[in-house]
Amino acid sequence: MNAPAEAPPSRPLDPIFNPRAVAVVGASRSRDTIGWSIVHNLVAGEFAGAVFPVNPSASSVHSLKCYPTLSAIPDPVDLAIVVVPRGHVEAVVDEGLAAGVRGFVIITAGFGETGLDGKAVERRLRDRVRAAGARLIGPNCMGVINADPAVRLNATFSPTPALSGSLGFVSQSGALGVAILNVAETLGVGISEFASMGNKADVSGNDLLVRWEDDPATRVIAMYLESFGNPRRFAELAKRITRKKPILVVKSGRTAEGARAASSHTGALAGTDLTISSILEHCGVLRADTIEDLFDTARALDRQPLPAGRRVGIVTNAGGPGIMATDACVHYGLRIAAFAPETVARLREYLPAAAAFDNPVDMIASAGVEEYGRTVAAVLSDPGVDAVLVVNVTPLRQNTRQIFDEIARVARGAPKPVLAVMMATEDFYEGLKEERDAPPVYRFPEQAARALAQVARYGEWRRRGADEAPPRFDFDEARLTRLLARPGPDGYLEPDDALGLLEAIGVPVVAYRRAADAAGALAAARELGFPVVVKAIAGGLVHKSELGAVALDLRDEAEAQRALAGMTARLARAALAPSGFLVQRMARGGHEVIFGLSSDERFGPVLMFGLGGKYVEVLHDVRFGVPPLTRTEALELVRGIRGIRLLEGVRGDAPSDLGLLADVLGRLAALAERFPAIVEIDVNPFLAADAAGSLAVDARVRVAP
Ligand code: ADP
Ligand code: MG
Repeated sequence: MNAPAEAPPSRPLDPIFNPRAVAVVGASRSRDTIGWSIVHNLVAGEFAGAVFPVNPSASSVHSLKCYPTLSAIPDPVDLAIVVVPRGHVEAVVDEGLAAGVRGFVIITAGFGETGLDGKAVERRLRDRVRAAGARLIGPNCMGVINADPAVRLNATFSPTPALSGSLGFVSQSGALGVAILNVAETLGVGISEFASMGNKADVSGNDLLVRWEDDPATRVIAMYLESFGNPRRFAELAKRITRKKPILVVKSGRTAEGARAASSHTGALAGTDLTISSILEHCGVLRADTIEDLFDTARALDRQPLPAGRRVGIVTNAGGPGIMATDACVHYGLRIAAFAPETVARLREYLPAAAAFDNPVDMIASAGVEEYGRTVAAVLSDPGVDAVLVVNVTPLRQNTRQIFDEIARVARGAPKPVLAVMMATEDFYEGLKEERDAPPVYRFPEQAARALAQVARYGEWRRRGADEAPPRFDFDEARLTRLLARPGPDGYLEPDDALGLLEAIGVPVVAYRRAADAAGALAAARELGFPVVVKAIAGGLVHKSELGAVALDLRDEAEAQRALAGMTARLARAALAPSGFLVQRMARGGHEVIFGLSSDERFGPVLMFGLGGKYVEVLHDVRFGVPPLTRTEALELVRGIRGIRLLEGVRGDAPSDLGLLADVLGRLAALAERFPAIVEIDVNPFLAADAAGSLAVDARVRVAP
């Protein structure tokens, strides 16, 4: 017996994406207005439900009976597309809520983007809609699409129809939304659902991530973002969702987005584009530079299996494109596979003597359908190959279409991805309807290599260990609470308290003492044992060494005394009077690294790790992450810096204990979560050495007033 048909469970945004009936409030009879285009797209797209135009001064729009108001519509309406002038929007929403409408897409602009009044209207709309259990997209957006063949909802004013497919796309920009649909159509990329977010008065990109997380129709999620509304929530969702399906992001504003003037290195670097890239990577999100780049990657992710590694086999029919493909692969971090002898032997059986049998395989210009099929099959079955890039140029009169079909036939069902570069004439592309189980086609090796590198990175992300809980740390809570309760007037902890805070969370710190004056400093130095380091403490003294307020490697009392006197005199010239001295044991060896924490209202807490000391200012070789951090994530951040080989030990240097560095990062992440009042920490430098020799020598901690 068949199980009774069950209605699919309804999901929070279903009134918007899966409505039974749609009203277009502000429908227009004049062609090429937005109020006309939306009705036209709904009808031309063959929406499965009913469409009700609403306009008090028209009796019909687009051959549909027109209603004067929302409440005059006799049938239940789930979704209202609102295109009325700004001043009428609130009244329309109220009327809709009273009539039982549970989804609104407000196209009308002129709200939050114009100023504070508009923001207030948006808040009122959101509150009213939410109180009624309804949801709202926009205002100032271009609409939504559900391309599911059973729904066929195109509630946008885009001139390009959407193909049905598996890409969930959310765009923050309406204008770009039109361009996105256009590029998608040109490339033959199908959409599952699309939303242009506008001002995000209610529904945000994060809500769509949640909607698509378990949506079987959406296999790849793509986002065009201009800003992160709630980055913390985004990071939390992205970390989870990318374990199931890929998320691709084009984030505009790559240039100096927010290099804020900040006194800490972490603060200055956090909020810049570097942070955003690093955080996206940390969450398993793939960042694309352009919309085309995004689609190039999306096509490969959607149509091909994930590669098990980065080793690429290249098959071409000409030398030049083979070299281009090789260079591009290496440039994007892929590796050129070394073939097994059997593979080379197989190729020698049928390829002409002038061919190149090793990777990249150059079958030369005589290669036809059969050579392509056999060679792609041979390279695919080589155990040292994770992915195949096939490049075809059209030197003679050659049936490019047949060659591609043969490549597709061989690639079908293979457990490894195949990407095709067809450097062919326009008629090939015109006749090409990209198919789900055929390799994605690119015009140039560069594009294919870039897409493949992204796919390989995502494959690595998916192979990471199973979900793992962030480690738990035992902190000296009593000491932490005491230290955090006594910042100076500028919010900074005293330098010795900052080091004390590190001790309280279990981070190794160099032996230190605080002294009130020069005599006390000498006594502290004797206690600690020479050689020592002396640092002056003064309010407003931030970068101590720049003002000569750090004296290193003082071997005896005489040297210490001279250093203390010199330092006091230098500070006096800068109109600073030391309120005391910090005396530390002189630490030796290790690489200077930096740990940072920066928390701003917009972004929430962000952790940083990188090369420290002077390097941080010059090289900006740092990685960022968002707490909570698992052990794996912390290690990834540590290993993710460009200069990691320095820490691993080059030219006989002793390697640093990377596990210990990950542990410190994990502790700082846990601290940030436990005490949100901490807005800034710079541990710079931390000397990274072996387990016994690694320690912090300088720290700055600022708490919110
Ligand atoms: P600031 O960052 O305010 O200029 P630091 O305390 O970081 O001052 O000291 C400056 C540099 O001196 C450090 O980057 C490090 O190279 C060195 N240094 C500081 N303290 C010690 C120490 N206890 N042992 C060895 N080197 C030290
Ligand atoms: Mg320092």
